[in-house]
Amino acid sequence: MNALDLLEQLSNAFGPSSVEDDVRDLIVDVVKPLVDELRVDRMGNVIGTRRGRRDDVLLLDAHMDEVGFLVSYIEESGFLRLFPLGGWDARVLPGHALNVRTKDGTIVRGIVGTLPPHITAEAERSKAFALDDLFVDIGASTKDEVLALGIDTGTPVVPGYPFERINDNLVMGKAFDDRAGCTIATCALDALQGFDLDMTLAVSFTTSEELGLRGARTVANQVAPHVALALEGTTAVDVPGVHGARKLASMGKGPTVTIADRSAIASRQVVALLEDVAAKDNIPYQRKLPGGGGTDAAAIQPVGEGVLVGVISVPCRYIHSPLSMLFLPDLENAIRLTTGFVRSAASLL
Ligand SMILES: [Zn+2]
Repeated sequence: MNALDLLEQLSNAFGPSSVEDDVRDLIVDVVKPLVDELRVDRMGNVIGTRRGRRDDVLLLDAHMDEVGFLVSYIEESGFLRLFPLGGWDARVLPGHALNVRTKDGTIVRGIVGTLPPHITAEAERSKAFALDDLFVDIGASTKDEVLALGIDTGTPVVPGYPFERINDNLVMGKAFDDRAGCTIATCALDALQGFDLDMTLAVSFTTSEELGLRGARTVANQVAPHVALALEGTTAVDVPGVHGARKLASMGKGPTVTIADRSAIASRQVVALLEDVAAKDNIPYQRKLPGGGGTDAAAIQPVGEGVLVGVISVPCRYIHSPLSMLFLPDLENAIRLTTGFVRSAASLL
């Protein structure tokens, strides 16, 4: 399986939290031949299973949703207002292109409108603003015109940037958080074809992670895993002005292994096994510094009798903005680390 091609298709797919249909269709197509069973639950999570020698379950988890918006209000003048799906900082949005998906699935292009410096007073320019201050211009001049396009309150919106390869090693795209994780899970499944599994392997592609890890909670209840890995695109902050304890991870230094973040502390046995596998298979990796956001691992860990959890991530610069950047060898090494972990995970039982 070609990780680059898969990442491109997944990143380009339209799928903000709770509107992951296009991503789910793509994943079901690709994953179905790689598992013994595949189902979609009522929330929209995709759960695949490959039976191993034992009934104990190892779960690989990635979330399908990307940060996006719903149209919250349509101005009489035809401009749209936004309600956030996931963690947005309004400062990164002005001037960016957005894709609005109409009722019949057509994409309408828009731009987050800004005021030109020509009419902005000095004091106004240094003022912070909120998402409520922003408006989207789709070129409509009345509310009726917007409604006639099939856009209404609740219509989903995502950043409007296609996947792009910028050199041999680097790509840019809108949704590496977490289509990078979906790529890792799928490519690891593919790499494990023909490998005689000790533990039963479940793979979940979850909904609504960005709205509070909502899909993963129900997945963990259904799958009852013994061990689980969340696979992510995480915050690379190796950029000017970020030093020391704030520099959680760097792009190009290999996949990250999480010790702790704001949502959970990784199980020490899992961290130790991940580091053993990396050493044995000669896979570059970095420990992600404690801090940052949360992952599905936090929702999975306290379910049933408790789950041993870990997180492997591809460090991506500028996540939770309209466009992020990823170093392809980090993705390849994340797939190798995940595959190696699955091969050794029975030692945790
Ligand atoms: Zn994520």
